[in-house]
Amino acid sequence: MAKLYFYYSAMNAGKSTVLLQSAYNYKERGMDVLLMAPAIDKRFGVGKIHSRIGLSAEAVSFAPAFDLFDYVSQELSQRPMLKCLLIDEAQFLTKAQVLQLADIVDQLNLPVLTYGIRSDFQGEPFEGSMYLLTLADNLVEIKTVCHCGKKATMNTRIDEAGRPIKVGDQIQIGGNERYVSMCRKHFKEA
Ligand SMILES: [Zn+2]
Repeated sequence: MAKLYFYYSAMNAGKSTVLLQSAYNYKERGMDVLLMAPAIDKRFGVGKIHSRIGLSAEAVSFAPAFDLFDYVSQELSQRPMLKCLLIDEAQFLTKAQVLQLADIVDQLNLPVLTYGIRSDFQGEPFEGSMYLLTLADNLVEIKTVCHCGKKATMNTRIDEAGRPIKVGDQIQIGGNERYVSMCRKHFKEA
């Protein structure tokens, strides 16, 4: 039976690297995979998944209103060797899209591997992650560390001078801010 997986972590833990390695493992065994990612500033089209260690691969990007179940049904009818759907930046999925992923698993029997961060820079859950944490068959944590050595679970947004930013939109496009992964204690102190 196929399953819905949610690989979750803080920022900069290497999610995209793990995704691309999993895709490679399928392909090495002669199986076809579908790579997709929500587009926050683009519409449907060709996008790319980049990992910080230099690997990248083409991925289909899609808008919030895009129906994943319809799209994957069509792809499956044309690609008999398609054995896995992998989704990067899964925190940006809508609730409806997470439900569509569950239907892809349950009705089309296709494994779905999703990768995303749990919460934003204010410690609030992302919509996609909230429903994946609720609906996934398997939750897998990809770990990274805070500067203190404890596991980092939170994401602090910082400006160019390294100062924490407390207010702003959940998703910022094209800004100069960066993120630092921290344990909960240091996130609260920041
Ligand atoms: Zn810490």
